[in-house]
Amino acid sequence: MTKLLDGNQLALKIREEISKEIEEKIINKKRRIPHLGIILMGNNDSSITYVNSKIKECKKTGIKSTLIHLSSSISENILLKEIKKMNLNPLIDGFIVQLPLGKHINQEKIILSIDPKKDVDGFHPENFGKMALGMKSFFPATALGIITMLERNKIDISGKHSVIIGRSRIVGTPISILMSRKAYPGNSTVTITHSKTPNIESFTKQADIIIVAIGIPKFIKSNMIKKGSIIIDVGINNIKNNNKNILIGDVDFHNVYEKVSYITPVPGGVGPMTRIMLLKNTLKAALKNK
Ligand code: NAD
Repeated sequence: MTKLLDGNQLALKIREEISKEIEEKIINKKRRIPHLGIILMGNNDSSITYVNSKIKECKKTGIKSTLIHLSSSISENILLKEIKKMNLNPLIDGFIVQLPLGKHINQEKIILSIDPKKDVDGFHPENFGKMALGMKSFFPATALGIITMLERNKIDISGKHSVIIGRSRIVGTPISILMSRKAYPGNSTVTITHSKTPNIESFTKQADIIIVAIGIPKFIKSNMIKKGSIIIDVGINNIKNNNKNILIGDVDFHNVYEKVSYITPVPGGVGPMTRIMLLKNTLKAALKNK
């Protein structure tokens, strides 16, 4: 049995499935191909890397993308106008506003201004609330990527104790909702921990599944987990190693490897699943957009 939950391979398979669905349900029916809009503000290196990889993934899958790259100094009003254009453009099926935004921009106002029908990031309260109530909606890509990975690897999470570390709106909170919902996959018993949780290892030591998204390199060590646990490492930390920049996760991978039953690598675990889930949401929006 392989312990490695390979996000690259699974994302490739899902990309093929999306491309096939586009061919069958859109191209063969002479419909317009799905179109993702991306609004990027400023020149944050990580944001540019993420946006470029999203555009590349669109091309490989057969989804059209349009990037609106705005200067970091534009006002909130200009950004809201660009969002309005995306909301009203019938040729855009879904769009995202790449986070983080400039400090002078009210992020909540921006998220609220996105048409929930086009909110393929699933951050709008209408989508988030529907998700929390078990209704159909767009789920945030990372959380959707994680439950899809567990499902496709036939890892049963029902009745298992899942400890989530981190409570951000984009990862920790949505994954805690999806793991515990009354649906498949779901029905897990969830504990959410965060920066104010004392003695985190007293929770992680009891966990069947640990999902860590905090942005602290090698935070999870072998002495913090029980034998046979399943570890999902969401963290992406860019560190210098022998004068080279490398990416590592929030888990000390080599230190825990012998003890776990499954683990996601960084890179190549949750990251590619996040990217492909954005396209899955875009296709879903396009199929609904008649
Ligand atoms: P965030 O910065 O918004 O939130 C961090 C969370 O970690 C907070 O809830 C905080 O309470 C918690 N935290 C901080 N220090 C802690 C500690 N010592 N103990 C316990 N909890 C602590 O984070 P985010 O946006 O969710 O991102 C977290 C990490 O995941 C980052 O490394 C980010 O790059 C990565 N990320 C990866 C993907 C992916 O697709 N793989 C997607 C999103 C984020």
